[in-house]
Amino acid sequence: MLPVRRHTRTVSIGSIKIGGTEPIRIQSMLTCDTTDVDACIEEITRLDAVDCEIIRLTVPNQKSVDSVPLIREEMRKRGIERPIVADVHFNPKLAVNVCEFVDKVRINPGNYADRKKFEVREYTDAQYQEELDRIEQKLIPLIKNLKKYGNSLRVGTNHGSLSDRLMNRYGDTPEGMVESAMEFLRILRKHDFEETVLSMKSSNPKVMIEAYRQLVQKMEKEDMHYPLHLGVTEAGNELDGRIKSAIGIGTLLCEGLGDTIRVSLTEPSENEIPVAKSILQSTRSRIYNTDFISCPSCGRTFFDLASTTEKIKARTSHLKGVKIAIMGCVVNGPGEMADADFGYVGSGPDKINLFHGKTCVSRNIPADHAVERLIELIQECGMWSDPPENNQIL
Ligand code: SF4
Repeated sequence: MLPVRRHTRTVSIGSIKIGGTEPIRIQSMLTCDTTDVDACIEEITRLDAVDCEIIRLTVPNQKSVDSVPLIREEMRKRGIERPIVADVHFNPKLAVNVCEFVDKVRINPGNYADRKKFEVREYTDAQYQEELDRIEQKLIPLIKNLKKYGNSLRVGTNHGSLSDRLMNRYGDTPEGMVESAMEFLRILRKHDFEETVLSMKSSNPKVMIEAYRQLVQKMEKEDMHYPLHLGVTEAGNELDGRIKSAIGIGTLLCEGLGDTIRVSLTEPSENEIPVAKSILQSTRSRIYNTDFISCPSCGRTFFDLASTTEKIKARTSHLKGVKIAIMGCVVNGPGEMADADFGYVGSGPDKINLFHGKTCVSRNIPADHAVERLIELIQECGMWSDPPENNQIL
């Protein structure tokens, strides 16, 4: 049986929700300086235009906290209503202060209340507990403000920034990452805070995948059902960054894990959104466009498969949820496009058979007319809609 989506609680981030049966949300993070309000607005406008659903910005100092209401005011004037998440490291006070102006706060359990000293020493159980008590005291004011302003919280663990305490007990491992998050979750739950989202990021997809799997097991044991934010951190750029993200995020989505995703690319942030949509579409986690199934072509191919596929995509890529198979020949073609709604299959040199589901509805159409005939067939079957302006092909 195919995996089903993991059951989670629903968490609100401003006007949208994640987890439960909500669509898997796409998010990104600004690359500009948070104190440069104009640059932030420019970038937010570009992200909004490609339908980025949640926008994170870094808050490294009080000046950045002070910028956030100015950014939001400008967003309001431009009619941009995207939830804003503050990303805070090293300084619990900033996390507390920014609550008033954002929808969600992200903290890193590795550095929220710990400074990395790279000390090698064994912690006794009593010393370990003392550390946890210290973290709890630092979290209490944040929990208070998160509740006061109706915010959610992401406990975002990073493989590269585990605290000395965890490194000494668990090493640089997925187990250490999971325990790092669980320590925070137990404190949050003790103080009746449940609006929590978790992430386990690493630049190594194998580590990241394992950490998320172990986290889910551990949470289930403790009756915790918080949503997951998936991402491969520092994935890089161009093809490498896209493949690494697709492997890490895609693998977990195929297992039914993940409620929001961020593709981290060393490129303009708006470039991340089509990749994220493509990962969701390819794993059938969220459908944005037409699903195309096309064979790689071989010596049996009866028509120019590459140019025909492009031609069909250009005309039909906006048909959300419709599956179209483009196959070079009838030998393997119809069998391999089993779950497609429509099939465009080579039947002889430059001759095409068209299928509706498994039924062949037109035979040996000259290839010159076959794309038009395919579109007519989609229309006749009531599955056509006109393309929106600026239709974006994934
Ligand atoms: S469907 Fe036909 S043309 Fe396409 S790869 Fe398979 S055998 Fe070759």
